[in-house]
Amino acid sequence: MQVLPIHSGATTKECQPHGKLIVLTGPSGVGKGTLMQTLLQRHPELYYSVSLTTRSPRPGETNGKNYYFISRSKFEQLVAQGEFLEWAEFAGNYYGTPRATVLDHIQSGKLVMLEIELEGARQIRASFPSALSIFILPPTFSELEKRIRGRGQDSEESIVRRLHRAQTEIEAADEFDIQIVNNDFETAVKEIEAVLFG
Ligand code: 5GP
Repeated sequence: MQVLPIHSGATTKECQPHGKLIVLTGPSGVGKGTLMQTLLQRHPELYYSVSLTTRSPRPGETNGKNYYFISRSKFEQLVAQGEFLEWAEFAGNYYGTPRATVLDHIQSGKLVMLEIELEGARQIRASFPSALSIFILPPTFSELEKRIRGRGQDSEESIVRRLHRAQTEIEAADEFDIQIVNNDFETAVKEIEAVLFG
């Protein structure tokens, strides 16, 4: 199995004057996206940062809602211009968080939510020490494999890459402020709500 080199964008320390930055991270397939959707539906005051990616849209995904889908050359141009708060290469594609939009929303006092993979979450921890990071764990590794395969949306090559990467990601769970196991979905949502709203 091939181990992908991880390329990522380092950032300088940012100040966080008014709002708060919350990072939801954990392996692909763990249910971060569904947890995030549920949180956004129940708490419209949260601001979700839509990422940019070079991945192709999956069936049902919309540009500007799930991601901004852009070319590799455009992404690399934005990296060179310092437009990302963090970015990383994951399973052969680039993903990144737009800097200006997120900083504007933090400035205006919002609770800003990112749903990103490990390398990006590490960059945020380094550049935003006051950000709160939540790591979502699967109940077991075989359950994670079942969920990734069950989505039926990725090629076998992408599935193998994601599973390989998931092993590394799970080992890093302790680096983050809070760990939550997504076994029972509703319990996991409640645990995140307790962290966010006390
Ligand atoms: P997917 O291709 O399944 O939508 O996402 C693959 C991984 O990339 C997921 O773990 C997702 O959380 C992560 N991801 C999505 N957006 C970003 C981003 O802006 N930055 C980083 N570092 N990871 C992201």
